[in-house]
Amino acid sequence: MSKYWSITAKNIKPYTPGEQPKDRKYIKLNTNENPYPPSPKVIEAIKSVANETLRLYPDPNCDELRQTIAEYCNLKKEQVFIGNGSDELLAFSFPAFFEPVGKPILFAEITYSFYPVYAALFNTTYKLIPVDDEFNVLPEGYYQENGGIIIANPNAPTGKGISGESIENILKRNASSVVIIDEAYVDFGGQSSVKLINNYPNLLIIKTLSKSHSLAGLRVGYALGNEELIAGIIRIKDSINSYTVDRLALAGAREAIRDDVYFQETRSKIMKSRERVSGQLREIGFKVIPSQANFIFVSSEQQCRGRELFQRLRDKGILVRYFDKPKIDNFIRVTIGTDAEMDCFLEAIAVICARRM
Ligand code: PMP
Repeated sequence: MSKYWSITAKNIKPYTPGEQPKDRKYIKLNTNENPYPPSPKVIEAIKSVANETLRLYPDPNCDELRQTIAEYCNLKKEQVFIGNGSDELLAFSFPAFFEPVGKPILFAEITYSFYPVYAALFNTTYKLIPVDDEFNVLPEGYYQENGGIIIANPNAPTGKGISGESIENILKRNASSVVIIDEAYVDFGGQSSVKLINNYPNLLIIKTLSKSHSLAGLRVGYALGNEELIAGIIRIKDSINSYTVDRLALAGAREAIRDDVYFQETRSKIMKSRERVSGQLREIGFKVIPSQANFIFVSSEQQCRGRELFQRLRDKGILVRYFDKPKIDNFIRVTIGTDAEMDCFLEAIAVICARRM
């Protein structure tokens, strides 16, 4: 705490990202990164612009990348916004669409823990909507007065997907609120709401290249929605920083979207590994929440509590994520790695559990 900090800086409880330790070599299954490298075409594209043009600012409107994404999604360029990772899109969306100290915005009691941080930073009141015992997000919870809605689909950290029908019902019942669907993980088997954009002017979809395109290090996310919503985010962006996406990121992201064959290959490999690992964990008595994401949320009540499991795996050089929060403190979230990494994880689990029995 410093006397120089503003009241905001003093009071805010910042989001804690998953650790990126350097003390030893770990199998990193803690931050939902993709275990496969980005497409070789992405690396080539980045190298091709790593030259004297870096002297110049990048295109503040990201026009070429917007056009590429628009074509890929069957939308207009004006329906696409590019950001420095999807966290930035979420940050811009709060002042763009939610009133400070207005009606509460709604999000699930168990969801991405950055949402309450943005709410605190931007003075947005919020109401937590319960999930059921199996972590399902129930659409009825969102049929009430609100100043906006955010839903992660699939949800984090559970991996639970929400049906397109439920999302559509939420949109219908909330025509005067902006409904943000955070589709950070949708490419791993979830149901995307992109096709609803032209029917629902209140729908904003947020996506990222961090997970499904192996580009967490490049920091590119995009928002899709009607032109008015996109124009609102642009107003906020241009009031903070006109150049949020750099030249290397613009070039790399464009190739990532274009190389659809590579994208399809890596995402299906991850989904296949996820099903294999989920099955094997269930066989040894673990509870595995059915996941549509590139991670699984698992617990083993009889054998090992969540925190202990996390610590024992860490001692064995395997990092997973543990959340010390009510209702989920007995679970660990495990990112799906390569098959070799997942075999090490399963072996470590077998050893830890054997010692307990
Ligand atoms: N939304 C959700 C639900 C996430 O889990 C994450 C990753 N922590 C993000 C958004 C942000 O991803 P990025 O900023 O890398 O695009």
